[in-house]
Amino acid sequence: MTVISQSPFTATVLGLPRVGPHRELKRATESYWAGRIDAAQLHETGRALRRDQYTALAAAGLDSIPVGTFSYYDQILDTAVLLGALPARVADIEDPLDRYFAAARGNESVEPLEMTKWFDTNYHYLVPELGPETTFTLHPGDLLAQVTEAIELGIPARPVVIGPITFLKLAKTTGGAALDRIGELIPLYQELLRLLAEAGAIWVQLDEPALVTDLTDAELAVVRRVYTELTESPSRPAVLVATYFGHPGPALDALAGTDIEGIAVDLVAGTDVAAVAAVPALAHKLLVAGVVDGRNVWRTDLDDALSTLATLLGSAESLAVSTSCSLLHVPYSLAVETRLDDALRSWLAFGAEKTAEVRVLATGLNSGTESVAAELGAARAAAASRRADPRISNAQVRARLAALGPEAVRRAPAEQRRALQQDRLRLPALPTTTIGSYPQTSAIRLARAALRAGEIDRAEYVRRMREEISEVITLQEQLDLDVLVHGEPERNDMVQYFAEQLDGFAATELGWVQSYGTRCVRPPILFGDVSRPAAMTVDWITYAQSLTDKPVKGMLTGPVTILAWSFVRDDQPLADSARQVALSIRDETVDLQNAGIRIVQVDEPALRELLPLRTADQQTYLDWSVDAFRLATAGVADSVQIHTHLCYSEFGEVIEAIAGLDADVTSIEAARSHMEVLDDLNASGFDAGVGPGVYDIHSPRVPGVEEITAALRAALKAVPAERLWVNPDCGLKTRGPAEVEASLRNMVAAARSVR
Ligand code: GLN
Ligand code: ZN
Repeated sequence: MTVISQSPFTATVLGLPRVGPHRELKRATESYWAGRIDAAQLHETGRALRRDQYTALAAAGLDSIPVGTFSYYDQILDTAVLLGALPARVADIEDPLDRYFAAARGNESVEPLEMTKWFDTNYHYLVPELGPETTFTLHPGDLLAQVTEAIELGIPARPVVIGPITFLKLAKTTGGAALDRIGELIPLYQELLRLLAEAGAIWVQLDEPALVTDLTDAELAVVRRVYTELTESPSRPAVLVATYFGHPGPALDALAGTDIEGIAVDLVAGTDVAAVAAVPALAHKLLVAGVVDGRNVWRTDLDDALSTLATLLGSAESLAVSTSCSLLHVPYSLAVETRLDDALRSWLAFGAEKTAEVRVLATGLNSGTESVAAELGAARAAAASRRADPRISNAQVRARLAALGPEAVRRAPAEQRRALQQDRLRLPALPTTTIGSYPQTSAIRLARAALRAGEIDRAEYVRRMREEISEVITLQEQLDLDVLVHGEPERNDMVQYFAEQLDGFAATELGWVQSYGTRCVRPPILFGDVSRPAAMTVDWITYAQSLTDKPVKGMLTGPVTILAWSFVRDDQPLADSARQVALSIRDETVDLQNAGIRIVQVDEPALRELLPLRTADQQTYLDWSVDAFRLATAGVADSVQIHTHLCYSEFGEVIEAIAGLDADVTSIEAARSHMEVLDDLNASGFDAGVGPGVYDIHSPRVPGVEEITAALRAALKAVPAERLWVNPDCGLKTRGPAEVEASLRNMVAAARSVR
């Protein structure tokens, strides 16, 4: 086939955000759920958003535009629909949109699909469930309609579909390995390609990010088989396979050896450019070079990108410029940010600006750098201003970190600490506590909105939050919990709250990024060395402590989680940024201690999320992340009890790191995994306090006393009573006050009966 010499393209992006520049789709979808608009109105919002987006991308000069990355909830769920792989429990729901949303979020009678993180990003996808009863069938209607819609608008549409290997690798199966079912999917994809060609698509993009993880030889053979068989038919579009989030390694050779027409590689995630250039089979293909970072917010170093492109020139039949991955992971446009100072703004590029960079690079590549001299000059000036900005480097922070010796991350042996802490805290066996947050009621949210809108002043806001704190303390005393919390009413978000108070971070106004479904987050931007101008939590915690004789936990977010949920610097290793954040958290723990607080909890729910995708990179990460946690927590006296909270049940590769954190007490999600995690923890040599969540807070159901008692008895098989804590499995902020009170009452009763 010679499809590609007929129709190579030069400038594209791998995928698009969909919530809308002003979160229009979020609003419309939530209105649909609430019954305020109907399906036709929701579809109209989707259509208008797509049309505006395509038009803008075409005007920006992209000559191939991804179509089909739009979604009402999630692209993996869309693929499950495309392949007829929704679970049987939603099959009876007649209306397709209601069936789709039931699979995504459940309803009164149906459990939703499980949700998990999309590779090492903070986006969550829905996990397809495959079983012996799953019979794959093709449902291409929605995708074909989007392709037709784009072509009718005159858009150079390139349909995008999740590839069969990634789809199966992300699915969970009962009975056999998911990838064993590849033979059932190939004919469906062949048929889909035929239909897309018929609809007028010249290229199709199959997304295979799973190819940047470690693959066995058998899996690499599946890669060769799939893309050999998918390219056998002549009636199909040219096939572009997109890898991203890392280097494809041996999968690149496997792909290059097939008859696919194009391969996209992520050149900002550590892919070795020389290795890509050296793959001989690329000489007959289109190489889509992801030189513009699709998941961070920095302006591209255009000189650098051009030199990468120059290295690749000649190694492929043609070369297109692209983002490294979908733009799903960055905000829409810088243009709407009015509060960023000019210098900082000039260092950044969001979606629209990245699209423009792709165009500039493609023009520079094809028409010579003189043709884009002005743009190159502006990028150089911005880079120079960034390097020279005094906020980037803080000599004092650097000097303090350089002066820290190994003792800075070491506390006395755990045994010794345990005795000192018990002496001071005098807790009963099986102490009861919670993870930190209490329900974020509408009164709390209204107070925060009123403060932001200038309707109330800071003093009034503080008064209202103190009232919340005092209610939460009273409730916990009534319930007779042993270790209390202040309830975190003042925190909009456990990362943003700290980023707003630390130097080195900036906030956006409209920099929303989809986290899952209609939930969007506004990650802070870490742009300079981190320091803490003033204490961040001490007033709230000491106020709470003043209301009770029981110990109140100081509540902080750990350095790894703060980085995981922010846009991070690209001008120094993440490990260095982690040490800086850790130092500020350490100062906060010491201030809490000096204010008389006896227990400090440092949450690291994202420890697992940042784990590198390739095994070979994981130990280095675990070493520095554990080190950052210890730096953050080893500054207090041995009599101060350090707690941590980890927020997932499958610990796998990070299990050994948990012991390495050297916290006195670790609370973990275990309610859904039936305490199995405790045996794994024991096997890893962990012997400190542990609070395996005794009930699942992700559901509104109130657990009974017996059920919690049974969970505690199960836990006691693995953990001796003197190490076992009793707590729910995560924070309570998304729950209603009534359920929380009833659940905690039962939890305390269960702890008493087991004692
Ligand atoms: N302390 C936080 C809370 O209770 C922890 C949240 C989390 O684990 N994600 O809300
Ligand atoms: Zn949690």
